[in-house]
Amino acid sequence: MQPKRPVIFVIDTSALYHQQQFAAEDIQLATTPIIEKEMHQKGLKESLDLLIVTNKLRIIEPTPHSLEKVKITAQELGDLPTLSEPDQQLLALALDLSTQDYRVVLVTDDYAIQNVAQQLGVEFKSISTSGIREIINWETYCKACGHKEPGSTTETACPVCGTTLKRRAIHKQHID
Ligand SMILES: [Zn+2]
Repeated sequence: MQPKRPVIFVIDTSALYHQQQFAAEDIQLATTPIIEKEMHQKGLKESLDLLIVTNKLRIIEPTPHSLEKVKITAQELGDLPTLSEPDQQLLALALDLSTQDYRVVLVTDDYAIQNVAQQLGVEFKSISTSGIREIINWETYCKACGHKEPGSTTETACPVCGTTLKRRAIHKQHID
């Protein structure tokens, strides 16, 4: 039997609002310098610094090699137009840590990130969707140019570039 690998959560800014979810568990957190900066701008410096001084959170720059792999994969999936630079860096960091002796879990509610993570073989977890019952809202989008239509659209081809539209879950709501 293999020894249990330590769990490391790669988190984005929204995950910091839910940090009590991670506090009690024996898990490490990691994020990138660009997300750290974003957290500072959102006035989260205090809680961020506390996580850093208690060795709960590590700030790590992803390698160019992993970043390149993320870009290529996102391009293939048609998700590159919807992935921001911080999104790509988070995915790259998750890849980097996966090659080390960690069980890496990417914490994000972003479906484009989840989609690329799945393709890269990176495990992910949603923050806001851990409820028992959920309503899923759908979005119709164009894989080629990133154009989005309301979920109720009857269009089958992208009005911008003519590519066949795809559908994906964009939002899950809890039913209490
Ligand atoms: Zn299009």
